[in-house]
Amino acid sequence: MSCDFLAQALPGVQKLSPYVPGKPVDELARELGLDPQRIVKLASNENPLGPSPKATEAIRAELAELTRYPDGNGFELKQKIASRCGVNIDQIALGNGSNDILELVARAYLAPGLNAVFSEHAFAVYPLVTQAIGAEGRAVPAVNWGHDLDAMLKAIDEHTRIVFLANPNNPTGTWFGPRALAAFLKAVPENVLVVLDEAYIEYAEGDELPDGLSYLADHPNLMVSRTFSKAYGLASLRVGYAISSVQIADVLNRVRQPFNVNSLALVAACVAMDDADYLAKSRQVNDEGMAQFEQSFQQLGLSWIPSKGNFIAVDLGQPAAPVYQALLQEGVIVRPVAGYGMPTFLRVSIGTKEENSRFLEALAKVLARG
Ligand SMILES: *Cc1c(COP(=O)(O)O)cnc(C)c1O
Repeated sequence: MSCDFLAQALPGVQKLSPYVPGKPVDELARELGLDPQRIVKLASNENPLGPSPKATEAIRAELAELTRYPDGNGFELKQKIASRCGVNIDQIALGNGSNDILELVARAYLAPGLNAVFSEHAFAVYPLVTQAIGAEGRAVPAVNWGHDLDAMLKAIDEHTRIVFLANPNNPTGTWFGPRALAAFLKAVPENVLVVLDEAYIEYAEGDELPDGLSYLADHPNLMVSRTFSKAYGLASLRVGYAISSVQIADVLNRVRQPFNVNSLALVAACVAMDDADYLAKSRQVNDEGMAQFEQSFQQLGLSWIPSKGNFIAVDLGQPAAPVYQALLQEGVIVRPVAGYGMPTFLRVSIGTKEENSRFLEALAKVLARG
């Protein structure tokens, strides 16, 4: 009789469902015998512009150093982030994507008997990292698809160690403003770590959303996480960062792997942060694509959740799974979000104008079939 290694796993891990990513282009191409060039993927909130040429140039220059370990302290990137964000270098922890940051914070602060609070329909990684540790995840019912910050405050008890906030949230695109954040931070117990996930902040800066960094000075229990995967267009490289009090950053730096960010990611992120033109262009393409989607959804008689991210959740008013499958047959990959409690929605990333049009034409065709 061989050993049951699932039964041997920690109880929280046994009940975990793996994160379901967007379907890769090559996988669909294999399945349908399609030319990958003809497939449109709007499923993972990736930047449709491709990486900044400055980033690819920096990577090319770094290739000769691949035999060496990366700088485990990420000094240059941290220095860039510090000067850009107006913080000290010892307030920063780098992550293998901001996903890594979320995992580090859970590992450092959660355990069985403790809990983390997050919203219904919030980013799937919050429940995932919480459960993997064996802690309790408290999903607080949303209002109008967004975070109910008052209800989240009420869900906090003496065993709560972390509250995860996403602003804007993925997959809903919902957001809260500066006053709501200020009131929340004022009311939250000071021993509860508030993880403010700003993965899409570059798309929404100065546009009704608070800049989480400006609350750090008054709230030593706040941690802001950001990423190079979305507006900076470097999802494949896996690099993100957390900014917090020196103490929290120190804790994260103790639990992370010694070389959790590779050298290509370090150099690319560094130059990406300086490429203001690329960032401006990314935001412009996103704003235009968002308008294109909203206009077309209206014409199709569909409702949607207003979004401040680089994606939009559209309500088909019918089970979305068959429509998702039919879109795949048309060579268009979007994201079903039934796993987020949104079975009639699809989440669609904003692509180039042409990609958006391909999706919209395929959607109209599929819906017309009834
Ligand atoms: C994409 C995303 C992340 C993490 O992305 P990384 O590639 O791991 O940096 C974190 N939070 C939210 C809300 C996201 O949508």
